[in-house]
Amino acid sequence: MDRLDNFIAGEFTPPSAGEYLENFEPATGEVLNVVADSDERDIAAAVEAAERAFPLWSATPAEERSRLLLRVAELLEQHLEEFALAESRDTGKPLWLARTLDIPRAVRNFRFFATAILHSASELHQTDTVALNYTLRQPLGTVGCISPWNLPLYLLSWKVAPALAAGNCVVAKPPELAPTTATMLARLCQQAGLPAGALNIVHGRGNRAGAALVAHPRVRAISFTGGTHTGAEIARIAAPMFKKLSLELGGKNPMIVFEDCRFAEAVETAVKAAFSNQGEICLCGSRIFVHRRIYERFRAELITRTRSLVVGDPLDPTTQQGALISEQHLAKVASYVELARAEGGTILCGGERVHLLGRCRNGWFFAPTLIEGLAPECRVNQEEIFGPVATLLPFEDEEELIAAANGTPYGLAASVWTENLTRAHRIAERLQVGVVWVNCWMLRDLRTPFGGVKHSGIGREGGWEALRFFTEPKNVCIHLPRD
Ligand code: NAD
Repeated sequence: MDRLDNFIAGEFTPPSAGEYLENFEPATGEVLNVVADSDERDIAAAVEAAERAFPLWSATPAEERSRLLLRVAELLEQHLEEFALAESRDTGKPLWLARTLDIPRAVRNFRFFATAILHSASELHQTDTVALNYTLRQPLGTVGCISPWNLPLYLLSWKVAPALAAGNCVVAKPPELAPTTATMLARLCQQAGLPAGALNIVHGRGNRAGAALVAHPRVRAISFTGGTHTGAEIARIAAPMFKKLSLELGGKNPMIVFEDCRFAEAVETAVKAAFSNQGEICLCGSRIFVHRRIYERFRAELITRTRSLVVGDPLDPTTQQGALISEQHLAKVASYVELARAEGGTILCGGERVHLLGRCRNGWFFAPTLIEGLAPECRVNQEEIFGPVATLLPFEDEEELIAAANGTPYGLAASVWTENLTRAHRIAERLQVGVVWVNCWMLRDLRTPFGGVKHSGIGREGGWEALRFFTEPKNVCIHLPRD
């Protein structure tokens, strides 16, 4: 696919301005394709198409909406290999990861919400013998879905599937750094028979197409996943317009390892949590707190395993670490390693760009990096790096641990490792985050509420939470006459 156009009213349409952005393959540094550089005119056309489609789509019986979304899931599964390859080439992530995580999860997202709407119910409140109140949950109309580049189809479908399932029409703005699978999905929706205008995809830059979507007066809700600064900017525009907002933002997640943990599993998971997808996951465990009694042993094992991670061509099945999304992001990650040195930290392994040979000689690779010796208040322990960099922090006292774990502006997720159940409950209760994993990491049940607190965002996705977000409750009160 050389040119990615917008998908509006069921058709592939060039952007109004006729301008395109270059989309690079991170593993090679070369241009992969070009993508529509849309503006407010394209957003306006997409919103109109969504509005035209809404009466039909919202009145389509749930069983039929479900059938169409299940068909999308089925087609996606049939084309899994093509999608995985496109996702890997767009983002630099290992092909096997796109094949086992990203695309299967997008399939699950469609299946999950397609079937959830067959089981949903709404509330009834009986007011003694005087009245019956029942709650209608009605779709909002046109909703905006804005997603990031790290898990492109996974996170786009996590929004689009519940929005469509609930009967809304969608204008989606995929990430400009990884737009290909969104256009491929549009093709499948066409093929599945989704009515024209139910799903519209407008590509382009965040501060142009994205901002126009947020500011459009007839877009009723914005579901956004991305950086905290962008989330703040979106809230600044959307809040005074009284739009519904769901903001899934950054994280600086603690992984907390007590002395009584299952040692081998904890080390293995710490490596996964820190470096999966090159550390470009909002849930990554980037601050690893380890009890002093096992600190030396844990650190030694962690360094050995981190050093053994294979950085290589994402298309090579032996590769464990692919390329970072852009040259600019690579420079940002490297700058944090420099900052760690300036703040007095010790680089235990990694800390530098990796130069490969052959096809990937100009790719944007960075060695998985572990740092120790930094206080919890240092910038490196406070700011989201979003790359393959994790810090190690020894602890002894539980109160100090909780203060340090909670002591960042973020509050997305945490992972706690102990065999002591009472302690696990106690720590989970006190952590200021939206998700706590005990003796695991990123184990996801799609029915559970997902999201963060503090600067990690507002609102929750997943399960009924997502269907509630994409509907408006309306109470109908029926008086019951006594005679
Ligand atoms: P980003 O905020 O730069 O971009 C995200 C999306 O928003 C892109 O599609 C972008 O084009 C768009 N955008 C940018 N500026 C905009 C504006 N002014 N108005 C409207 N849209 C705009 O984030 P990114 O660099 O693509 O992704 C990385 C960030 O996403 C990290 O901070 C990461 O933690 C976060 N993230 C969070 C979660 C979560 O579930 N909490 C999941 C994945 C990623």
